[in-house]
Amino acid sequence: MVVKLALVGANGRMGTRIDALSASDDSVRIVERFGRSSRMDSLVSGSIDVIVDFSSEAGTRQSIELARKSKAALLVGTTGLSNAMQQELLDLGSTNAVLLAPNTSLGVAVTRRLAKIAAELLGPSGWAVDIVESHHDRKKDAPSGTAIAIAKSVEAGGMPVAAERIHAIRAGDTIGEHEIRFAGPSERLHIMHQAVSRDLFAAGAIRAAKWLAGRGPGSYSMEDVLG
Ligand code: NAD
Repeated sequence: MVVKLALVGANGRMGTRIDALSASDDSVRIVERFGRSSRMDSLVSGSIDVIVDFSSEAGTRQSIELARKSKAALLVGTTGLSNAMQQELLDLGSTNAVLLAPNTSLGVAVTRRLAKIAAELLGPSGWAVDIVESHHDRKKDAPSGTAIAIAKSVEAGGMPVAAERIHAIRAGDTIGEHEIRFAGPSERLHIMHQAVSRDLFAAGAIRAAKWLAGRGPGSYSMEDVLG
């Protein structure tokens, strides 16, 4: 089966890489590409399996409309979304398959799991935690969606993370680095993930889109994709 995708944000940095990687994958096909000024009324129910959104808050709003109209599944990689938009995505999960993935990398999913385990094991014995993230200077949101997701994982492990303990650096052409620094009496434990190419996110997005195709309504995460 070929999974049919509509790409929202097709001309952006991520959209371009998803487009390029899909071209060499026989099991997916991009059948619609939408940019900032595209009309999105061309989609009809059944014409696509998954909408893949790497755009902006406005683009994600349009993707939600598109998903409602076409009944397609929706994969949102866009970050920096408002709470209201995140709530709308949760609501959409009652009728469509929705995957909110602030980071589509396999390594980051593992990092989150390790951070939770570390918090569970260290938390009760007086350790502090800081999350440090670095990205290129054109990234609009700070802290990154991934840093916020990592903080949630640490908190799920029982260690609270105050907003001021998440540190964002915007400089140069850094694709994405996230470090969780646990500091305890006389010792330090650091967990770090570095993205060395944007292709890792694009490959992860394609993998997640294939996983999402044909799923029933629900709100999913990259944890579900990993199994
Ligand atoms: P970008 O600015 O290069 O691309 C965004 C594209 O979306 C642009 O081409 C823009 O014209 C388009 N766009 C904006 N509003 C739109 C609208 N209303 N309708 C249709 N298209 C619209 O940015 P990027 O680096 O490609 O990142 C895009 C988003 O993905 C950001 O939020 C970024 O933080 C996020 N991101 C997520 C991951 C992940 O793993 N989930 C990885 C990298 C980036």
